[in-house]
Amino acid sequence: MTPPLVVGNWKMNGSQADCLHLARQIARDVKSKPAPVQVVVAPPFTALTAVGKALHDSKVQLAAQNCHWQLNGAFTGEVSPSMLKELGCEFVILGHSERRHIFYESDDMIGKKVAPVIAQGMRPIVCVGETLDERQREQTFEIIARQLESALKGLGNDAIHKIEIAYEPVWAIGTGHNATPDQIREVHAHIRHFVGASFGRSNGNGMRILYGGSVKPDNATMIAGIDGVNGLLVGGASLQAESFLPIARSFSKNR
Ligand code: PEP
Repeated sequence: MTPPLVVGNWKMNGSQADCLHLARQIARDVKSKPAPVQVVVAPPFTALTAVGKALHDSKVQLAAQNCHWQLNGAFTGEVSPSMLKELGCEFVILGHSERRHIFYESDDMIGKKVAPVIAQGMRPIVCVGETLDERQREQTFEIIARQLESALKGLGNDAIHKIEIAYEPVWAIGTGHNATPDQIREVHAHIRHFVGASFGRSNGNGMRILYGGSVKPDNATMIAGIDGVNGLLVGGASLQAESFLPIARSFSKNR
């Protein structure tokens, strides 16, 4: 059975030394075999090489926080999927709300990145989620369907199980406000239904869907226990081993 996935998104935080220290603390703790949970960290680009080397032979896997859709070319400031693969990345976060809302990445841009990441043998973690305004206008399902449609467009059944989806309501990220269990349950079911309708019910049921948005040690076990939650994407609380490790263990308490 596919284990739950817990991902720490370190965003634009930490010197190489800070990131190495944190990665080593996490790797020391995540040793159990067979792992009851898959643990992934996404350091800033500048620390990927050092953290990738430190995690080699550990049970913790490496993710990048973004990439371009082309493998090379005149794209100043961008990093390609093949460059990330070379550094040992196994996952790439795509369409994080900060990419969508601060850097104006469109659904179309995010959609163009999915297949190239898979083609390099990495797994995209595609983030979807509505703003507060969209939720208040009762547009949540429509927005998420639109984001999924773009992200999954053109993919075949062979590619769909190489993708993770993270539901991250924009209003819950870094705010201390979680979505309620009912809100999480119904959006996860909506995502599963969307994937099932496009790629077949078994692919919908097999899809790993993560929740992200102010996950902390004191709410992680409750969120991990919600029907349809197969993992967690953690921002702020992933920056300290003391808060990330209890979150990484939250699924074992539900099994
Ligand atoms: C995130 O950045 O993906 C995130 C969920 O952040 P936080 O946990 O800080 O809300």
